Amino acid sequence: MIKEVVIKTDKLTKRFGDFIATNEITFEVYAGEIFGFLGANGAGKTTAMKMLCGLSRPSSGNATIAGFDIYKQTEQIKRNIGYMSQKFSLYEDLTVLENIQFFGGIYGLSDKQLKKKSNELIDILGLQKESKKLVASLPLGWKQKLAFSVAVLHEPKIVFLDEPTGGVDPIIRRQFWDLIYQAADKGITIFVTTHYMDEAEYCNRISIMVDGVIEALDSPINLKQQFTTSTIDEVFYKLARRAKRTENLK
Ligand code: ATP
Repeated sequence: MIKEVVIKTDKLTKRFGDFIATNEITFEVYAGEIFGFLGANGAGKTTAMKMLCGLSRPSSGNATIAGFDIYKQTEQIKRNIGYMSQKFSLYEDLTVLENIQFFGGIYGLSDKQLKKKSNELIDILGLQKESKKLVASLPLGWKQKLAFSVAVLHEPKIVFLDEPTGGVDPIIRRQFWDLIYQAADKGITIFVTTHYMDEAEYCNRISIMVDGVIEALDSPINLKQQFTTSTIDEVFYKLARRAKRTENLK
């Protein structure tokens, strides 16, 4: 079966002055895949993700996202992706319903679609009683689930998740991953960074970045075989030990 490629990079590089934050990364991600993007602090994940989302211009190399060129077609890229990060997600001082309507509007849904989608979403998440409450009053785990659901409301081809589950307990994280699987089942490609190695094991394939370079890329099971370890945690530490950037020593 031929897999549809939705992210393709070729020697994608970002320099800040003399410093090479992301160094000639080359990889492909397939439609409907859950792709984990791992690396220690400072490895270059956020820098790479910003380029892939059309938010930061590469220094050299090429990439296409959902078939669109990251130099020339950034507006088309933004229309075909969803984005959620631990740092930026929802407006705390708007209600649950207002957030859904606000972001749905930005993503280009019509009033009719918005009404239907917001009702569906509130039902799926069981937030009927909370729909008119401020997001600030929700527990963190609920905010994250809502933020993810909002990011895929317009059924993008790809959703980028930058450390989406930071700070919540393993049970809530597991529930969050149920939402990820549901989205992937619908054909949405998931590109996710995480520092939690249990989450890395949930991905179809993962890449591990060290000092701006992708040092390993495969399914969790193949990587464990390749590095003769029983966990991805051990694979990660075998590779991260090689890192020279100071952030990695945190
Ligand atoms: P973390 O897990 O801590 O978020 P990361 O893998 O996402 O780390 P990046 O944020 O991509 O890492 O940073 C990679 C390197 O690039 C770091 O050394 C960082 O200090 C540097 N860097 C990032 N943005 C800039 C910038 N605008 N100017 C100069 N250096 C930068």
